[in-house]
Amino acid sequence: MKKISLGLVGIGKIARDQHLPAIAVHEGFDLVACASRNAQVEGARNYSTIDAMLAAEPELEAVSLCAPPQVRFAQARAALKAGLHVMLEKPPGASLNEVEVLRAHALAAGRTLFASWHSRHAPAVEVARAWLASREIRSVDVRWKEDVRRWHPGQAWIWEPGGLGVFDPGINALSIATRILPREIVLTEAALYTPANVQTPIAADLKFVDEDGVPVRAGFDWRHGPREEWEIEVRTDRGTLLIVAGGKHLEIGGVPVEIGPEREYPALYDHFRQLIERGESDVDVRPLRLVADAFMLGRKYEVEPFVE
Ligand code: NAP
Repeated sequence: MKKISLGLVGIGKIARDQHLPAIAVHEGFDLVACASRNAQVEGARNYSTIDAMLAAEPELEAVSLCAPPQVRFAQARAALKAGLHVMLEKPPGASLNEVEVLRAHALAAGRTLFASWHSRHAPAVEVARAWLASREIRSVDVRWKEDVRRWHPGQAWIWEPGGLGVFDPGINALSIATRILPREIVLTEAALYTPANVQTPIAADLKFVDEDGVPVRAGFDWRHGPREEWEIEVRTDRGTLLIVAGGKHLEIGGVPVEIGPEREYPALYDHFRQLIERGESDVDVRPLRLVADAFMLGRKYEVEPFVE
C-alpha cells in the first residue's frame, strides 16, 4: 500500500497523546510535516503555521487538524484550497455553518473531509448499537463527569467562545448517543452553569426526547472527582445496557460483555484512509447541532468564578 503523505497541525495534548503514536505505526500514512506555533516533532519537517507548511510542501496529500476548534475553519479551508484531504479533530468547528461551508468546499474540490468523533470508535459502541437496534428503549441517562483541572490544565481556549466548556468532553457522549440510539433525539430543556469569570459552562443538565417521546437525560459536570464518570445507561424492555469508562467497557443486565481492546485513534486513521480511497467524505454534525441547541435553548445560571 502506498502511504499517503500527511501533515499534522496543532501539536498539543491530543496530538502527542494519540495522533503521533497512531500515525507512527499506521500503514496508510507517512507523517512528513507538522505545523505548530511553539512545538516541533522529531522526524518531521516543522513549520510554525499551516500556511507555511502548505507553501513549502507541495507533495503533501492530507492533513489532520488538532488545534482548538476556534482556528479549525481557517486551517481546513486553506488545506482544502491547496487540494488536500482533511481530517478534523472533534468538535468539527466552532460553529455549525463553518462545517457546512467546508463540506461544500471538499465536495467542489473532490477531496475527503472527515469530521472525526474518536469516542464513536470506542469498543463498546458498535456492540451497543447492534444490541439496541432490536430493543424497545424506555429511558436513557448520560453521566459525563470529570475534573477539569486534571483533564484540561491550563487550556484557556475551552473557556472562550467556541471552546464549548464542559461540552468539549460532553460532545463525546453525544457522539456515542447519536450513534447507538436507533432514533434521533431532540433537545427540550437545558440548564447551563457558567462561572462568573469565563464564557463557557462548567456544568450542564440536558433533557431530550427521542422521536417516540422516550426521555433522554444528560448531566455533564467538570466539578467532579477524583474518579471520572463517563457512562451511558439505556433501560430497555429486555434489560439495561451500561456503557462505562467512555466506551472501554460494556455491561448488559449487570454482566460485563467482552468487547475487545481500545483503539480509537488507529481506527480513526483507518477510516480516514478508507474514505480517501473511496473518494468520500464523512461529516456528521449531529453532536455539534445538539450542543448548539443547548446554547440556544439553555437557561443560564452564573456560578462561582473558576480558579485554575
Ligand atoms: P491543546 O493542547 O490546548 O492545543 C493543541 C495545540 O494547538 C496547542 O498546543 C497549540 O500549539 C495549538 N494552538 C492553540 N491555540 C491555537 C491558536 N489560537 N492558533 C493556532 N494553534 C493553536 O488542546 P488539545 O487538548 O490537544 O485539544 C485540541 C483538540 O483536540 C480540541 O478540539 C479537543 O476537543 C480535541 N481533543 C482533545 C482531547 C484531550 O484529551 N485533550 C481528546 C480528544 C480530542 P502551538 O502553541 O504550538 O501552536
